[in-house]
Amino acid sequence: MKVDFYRHNLTNIDFKNCLKVLKSLFLTTGPVNLKLENNLRLYFNGMNSATVSSWTAGGHLTLYTLGIKKNDEVITTPLSFVATSNVIEYNNATPIFIDVDKYTGNIDIEKIRSALNSKTKAVLPVHLYGQMVDIQKLRNITPKNILIIEDAAHAFESNFNGIKPGQISNAAIFSFYATKSLTSGEGGAIISSNEKLIEKLRKVRNHGITKSTFERYRKKYEHYDMEFLGFKYNLTDIQASLLLNQLRQAEKLWKRRKLLWEYYDYKITNIKNIDKPRILSNSKHSYYLYTVWVPPRKRDKVLLGLQQKNIGVGVNFRPIHLMRYFKKKYNYKEGDFPNAELIGKRTITLPFYPKLTKVEIDYVCTNLNKLVNY
Ligand SMILES: *Cc1c(COP(=O)(O)O)cnc(C)c1O
Repeated sequence: MKVDFYRHNLTNIDFKNCLKVLKSLFLTTGPVNLKLENNLRLYFNGMNSATVSSWTAGGHLTLYTLGIKKNDEVITTPLSFVATSNVIEYNNATPIFIDVDKYTGNIDIEKIRSALNSKTKAVLPVHLYGQMVDIQKLRNITPKNILIIEDAAHAFESNFNGIKPGQISNAAIFSFYATKSLTSGEGGAIISSNEKLIEKLRKVRNHGITKSTFERYRKKYEHYDMEFLGFKYNLTDIQASLLLNQLRQAEKLWKRRKLLWEYYDYKITNIKNIDKPRILSNSKHSYYLYTVWVPPRKRDKVLLGLQQKNIGVGVNFRPIHLMRYFKKKYNYKEGDFPNAELIGKRTITLPFYPKLTKVEIDYVCTNLNKLVNY
């Protein structure tokens, strides 16, 4: 048996949508992106969206557009993909790490207070594995002049107490990378209830010029101007075409993942010496990444052992502050964020996606049990 780490959900409908774009005149950002942005608006209860070429591009743009600059501090979590901290670095600001809660792996909101100072300009929390940080609580303890920008790369379908990403923060950013729950290979989107911000992001993603190629093409020729310095971070219509049907299917795919998640839970509970991140009761989890915690000294042996059995594995995540670049630049050392470090040493991500079968989960769990306990 072979259990891939990830399998996407693209179907003939997506291939047809994509072929339509390939046979049309317009390959770059055009009518399909407009349609996708409108459909995202419907999915996110009327909030506005701007599509971008990746989460990373979206993060860079959002911080830049909201005025994050040199010497500013941005509070974030060490337990994430490096992109979360890198977008702070791109803007020459300083990431200030706060340790995570040892049960959920999400940034420990209570500890944020102690890091607030006059240089603090924003908080960039991550909704780890698909469980949202309590954004209302974060908003309540963070002074109004400090921005909250959500790394919602794992949390497309999530809410916390009914609050969705972007709803009460300044913006939330999604990823449509190859292994995310909705994918266009590469891609991303920024969601915000601030219409002016989204309007500006749509310009900044395209060099800061006033009229996109599509706008110039649609109407009689108008000269463009460049209002401010922007980037080239737009999503092509080729990529956007792959997301239309996945968006329509999002809740159906989520339900399938929920069912498989519960089956995994049921199997894992019967295996000794394995723990899992905790899910809070008022949270709608997106069920994006299924991770387990094994004893640290066994982790790498289990990883390789699963791979030898043709089971795809991942590690989400080894903490960012111990990555060579950050360690050297900011003098971090082992022990600085013990909860994130412990999770980083224990965690294994198992195969998880709607096309997974119960028989495959049985195979994964049987091998996991053998490797951890025998
Ligand atoms: C995937 C991921 C990103 C980066 O997304 P890209 O679209 O590849 O730039 C950022 N943050 C988290 C938590 C991620 O998992």
